[in-house]
Amino acid sequence: MTFAPVAVENGKLLIGGEWISTNKTFDTINPANEKKLASVSFAGAEDVDRAVNAARSALSTGPWAKMAPRERGRMLYKLADLIERDKERLAILESMDNGKPVGETMNFDIPQVIETFRYYAGWADKIYGDVNPISGDFFSYTLKEPAGVVAQIIPWNFPLLMAAWKLAPALAAGCTAILKPAEQTPLTAIELGKLVMEAGFPGGVVNILTGDGTTGAALSSHKGIDKIAFTGSTEVGRKVMIAAAQNLKRVSMELGGKAPNIVFADANVDQAVRGALLGIFFNQGEVCCAGSRLFLHKAVEAEFTEKFKKFAEGIRVGDPLDKKTQMGAQVSLEQYERVTGFLEAGKKGGAKVIAGGSGLREKLGGYFVQPTMFAETNQDMQIVKEEIFGPVVAAQSFEDLEDLVAKANDTNYGLSAGIWTSDISKAHTVARRIKAGTVWINCFNAFDTAVPFGGFKDSGFGRELGRQAMDLYTGEKAVWIGGLGK
Ligand code: NAP
Ligand code: MG
Repeated sequence: MTFAPVAVENGKLLIGGEWISTNKTFDTINPANEKKLASVSFAGAEDVDRAVNAARSALSTGPWAKMAPRERGRMLYKLADLIERDKERLAILESMDNGKPVGETMNFDIPQVIETFRYYAGWADKIYGDVNPISGDFFSYTLKEPAGVVAQIIPWNFPLLMAAWKLAPALAAGCTAILKPAEQTPLTAIELGKLVMEAGFPGGVVNILTGDGTTGAALSSHKGIDKIAFTGSTEVGRKVMIAAAQNLKRVSMELGGKAPNIVFADANVDQAVRGALLGIFFNQGEVCCAGSRLFLHKAVEAEFTEKFKKFAEGIRVGDPLDKKTQMGAQVSLEQYERVTGFLEAGKKGGAKVIAGGSGLREKLGGYFVQPTMFAETNQDMQIVKEEIFGPVVAAQSFEDLEDLVAKANDTNYGLSAGIWTSDISKAHTVARRIKAGTVWINCFNAFDTAVPFGGFKDSGFGRELGRQAMDLYTGEKAVWIGGLGK
């Protein structure tokens, strides 16, 4: 079954509850057929100023500032219900703008978006301060207050889900927000803005600024913003931190990854193969926590490789709106060229192609890439060192545990890792020794709104999801009362 495309309108900016068209616009395309979907308003520095003013006045005056926490929670529940009402249209639109299969947007992205808003709706009235344990003539308590006006800059790989991970906890905490979607995938953020207004959020609480990197840069350096939450590349993350230093904004960073996925000799090989396929090919490999470095114990290397190859070659790549499609298109020409460039680098560098190895643009008329496995790789190869952000896995073998741990940690990144073994003690030992924000044992790419997610090293800092995300969007104020002994 193939879904019909949905109608797409040109995109406007949402500032202070008003939809605004700008003279300058940019196009967003469908990467599966390279055709234009819509033109979208471009937010320049003046629009950033207006959005910051709108967010600041919504934070300090007006209904949002006085709203009871439980009422904020009700609004978030309402927003989740509206997304659920429109879930099919949103799933198709996401698929058209990003190139990912509709089966994934319907069964993963949009349900996770709804779940995220509901989860944080529940947190809105559960933000507690402390009574501080002091003695003497004083009494002291801690108030948890909203972090303030927050700018949230997100990437194109899970457009609506990244918007939900950012907005839901910020709104539950009582912040006001300016969301900057990636220029490749602005459409579902705009639809989310419409639903935010329909749910009854006061104007200025959520502002949506479509644009490009200069829009993100203007937000990062703006003195009227208190906090920045960024997801994207390490390189841009660094720039955002430097710009944010202007007024010492709080920052949280969710950046790239190059996860080791380790298969021990005592692993259930069939289970490990399934998990490794999901680990690298989910979402066309455009996943920061993808298991892109496979470490295979010599004893299972041959069996694993043969089984992995068979499944990888059977993956149905093609029309994202066909429900049977398992892998869609890379998001853009730039990304397509980047990934196919890595395929060439892998071959030239001496890695052995086990499956795939080529782009499919000419054959399929969009930015499609074959699911690819390289074997006989080593730590010095570019495909092992750098984040590819595509459906390309680089395998190497190991025998010695110390050597394995050293190689697994020999990366600038520290976002995630996978371990496949039936030895529970070994699993826990290795989990402790790998420097990564998430370690999956006998599973991969498992997610739940209640489990924190984030990185170490060049993968960033700060934890999204779980109760930890509430800490990103609240600040603490200590209050003292004296004279109690008199
Ligand atoms: P990116 O360039 O880091 O973009 C992420 C966000 O930052 C986008 O909204 C982008 O806007 C914005 N931005 C760009 N320049 C900025 C600046 N100077 N100041 C503030 N914001 C700025 O990532 P990308 O181009 O989408 O992808 C490049 C690489 O990043 C990928 O190949 C991958 O390695 C990594 N990546 C990681 C994740 C993750 O989840 N960890 C997600 C996506 C990409 P525009 O898109 O409008 O330029
Ligand atoms: Mg697009």
